[in-house]
Amino acid sequence: MRKLSANYLFPVNGEPVKNGYVVVDDSGTITEIGALEGECADTEFYNGIIAPGFVNAHCHSELSYLKGQFRQATGMSGFINQINELRNVAPKEERLEKIEQAFNDMYREGVSAMADICNCDESFGIKSKSPLYTVSFIELFGTDPAEAEDIIEGGRKLRDLAKRMGLRASVTPHACYTMSPELLEMAAEEGLKDGIISYHSQESFQEEELLIKGTGELAENYKGRGLPTPPVTGKSALPYFIERLLSFAKAPVEGKILLIHNIATNQESIDMASEKLKEPYWVLCPLSNIFIHRELPPIDLMIENNLEICIGTDSLSSNTVLSIIEELKCLHKNFRHITLQQLLTWATINGAKAIGKEETLGSLEIGKKPGIVLIDNIDWNTFSLTEKSRSTRLI
Ligand SMILES: [Zn+2]
Repeated sequence: MRKLSANYLFPVNGEPVKNGYVVVDDSGTITEIGALEGECADTEFYNGIIAPGFVNAHCHSELSYLKGQFRQATGMSGFINQINELRNVAPKEERLEKIEQAFNDMYREGVSAMADICNCDESFGIKSKSPLYTVSFIELFGTDPAEAEDIIEGGRKLRDLAKRMGLRASVTPHACYTMSPELLEMAAEEGLKDGIISYHSQESFQEEELLIKGTGELAENYKGRGLPTPPVTGKSALPYFIERLLSFAKAPVEGKILLIHNIATNQESIDMASEKLKEPYWVLCPLSNIFIHRELPPIDLMIENNLEICIGTDSLSSNTVLSIIEELKCLHKNFRHITLQQLLTWATINGAKAIGKEETLGSLEIGKKPGIVLIDNIDWNTFSLTEKSRSTRLI
């Protein structure tokens, strides 16, 4: 049993508690929460704030070997060219080592759970041994409708292998521009049988232009490689995706749908998602967005609409670190009016809800086992993170 305290405790489900403490038993389960009164000899006191463990709502741990390899600010089309060039350049042992290091670093920094995209089985062994809870999304793409059936079958096999290794896994579609409408529908339907999918949505204005007008850099990239592009619908990428879902499901579509990036989202798309999807989650990966596009999503619009916002790191191909605290610092710097309480809500309980683990993770509550994290170097005048803020797992 340990009793941990700090200048402030952020339970996240309620207001911050000054000199708050949390008692955790040997299994990591919270047994007591309160505010310290006077000196307590049995208490470990830390300078900073204590928060529940983070949920990284979007990662590609498999791509960890690509750290430091990509040029920045290339836009979507330039990013795709680089990933096609550099995928699998490193030997397998090195790739596995980098995945394991990413898991260890994230866990030490306080990530308790992660929604992770998979294109192969390389992360499975590491996940099955890691204390970090994971959901593996077996991501599919392919623009030729004739290949859709085979691609789905390959996805099912990989998903079943993950499940046999004791992991939670579901098939998922990648994005509108990398998939034939047929494969997009089949992959989403297959994933929603497991109750959850994760979809790269409105990541760039290049993607929007491709769907709306059939023009622009991304469209030229695909045409240049002799690949078919999705039909020109005159509509934004998210409405296009929702219409694919409505080809096999009734509105509101059941299941957890993680929408990743959302740089180019807008009120019309938000309205349609709120009406037609039962449980959409809007995942922000700000450092990746800046890395590739030098842009950020319309976060104020998302807040005004009361969306369930979560935080992800994306991969080390489009980020220099896999660190939730660094993502929060980036948001804090660019949106000074967003409170620490709000940011932590996104990084913890909202992510836990997105993966259906809010019964045990995401907030400091008696009976939960969320992991306990210290965040230091807080600016107490403004109650905000500073450049020096770090996060460390205490439990
Ligand atoms: Zn991604």
